[in-house]
Amino acid sequence: MRPLLKTVPQALFATRPVHLLLMETTGEYCHLCESRLPDQARALNKRTGTDLEGIIAPEVWPQVLLTCEVCFKAQQLAALLQSPPASLLYPDEQLTFSVNKETSPFVYEKKPVTRYLLDEDNNAIGSPETVELVIVRGTTESARATINHFDLNSAWYAEADNTLRIPLQEHLSAADLRVHQRTEIWGLVDDYVKRYRQLLELNRDMAGIMLEHGRLLAAASGFWSVWATLLWEGTNDRAALSAVLLPRQANLAAAARAEGQATPHDVFPGTHPDVFR
Ligand SMILES: [Zn+2]
Repeated sequence: MRPLLKTVPQALFATRPVHLLLMETTGEYCHLCESRLPDQARALNKRTGTDLEGIIAPEVWPQVLLTCEVCFKAQQLAALLQSPPASLLYPDEQLTFSVNKETSPFVYEKKPVTRYLLDEDNNAIGSPETVELVIVRGTTESARATINHFDLNSAWYAEADNTLRIPLQEHLSAADLRVHQRTEIWGLVDDYVKRYRQLLELNRDMAGIMLEHGRLLAAASGFWSVWATLLWEGTNDRAALSAVLLPRQANLAAAARAEGQATPHDVFPGTHPDVFR
């Protein structure tokens, strides 16, 4: 979960609806599942579980997150069905990702998962299949509670026995594609990192061009933590990870807009720089 420094120039509060403020200062990604956002996005009030619209007062700003429709609905359902968890992790309050797996609250791993398709009576249809999925694992109790609250591995995944038991209708409706999208981007990044390493062996002078290409690819694909995980595993290079995934200047675009200047291009605005801790 990409950690955020969610700051906004004061002058923008009176002129921008909350969705736009969030997108301009942190990018067009769900703060929870990290998917690239389509047109509809929610400004979730973390404290009430409701969504906000329009102009908000500056004092409400620390309470809002930008989420996709699926993450928003998951937490609504969780609030109905379960008593509220004691503590959840939020990317604008805690350092929710580190390249150091020992300290990162969330760890992303590709692994074989046993998938059962279920009929209307919840009986398995045919034999189970093994599918490769990228699963997010919580390393602390709060991280695990957060994964459950927002169903970040879908409502059908059970960590205890590493199974996905999904009703056929849900499977066909593709209503929740977050894990599959995460897995798809994992493949893309894995391929990118392999090419980057091959290029380094051939010609180190080309590294900068390849990193710039990665920066654009990452901005377009989303799933920042997948990028951070694989780039770090494949290169162990802080400079490479920073070049691809960290904004060059915090809130550059938002600051420029507040002053009425042209918007400079940057990727993953608002990302917390302390991801090497
Ligand atoms: Zn989401």
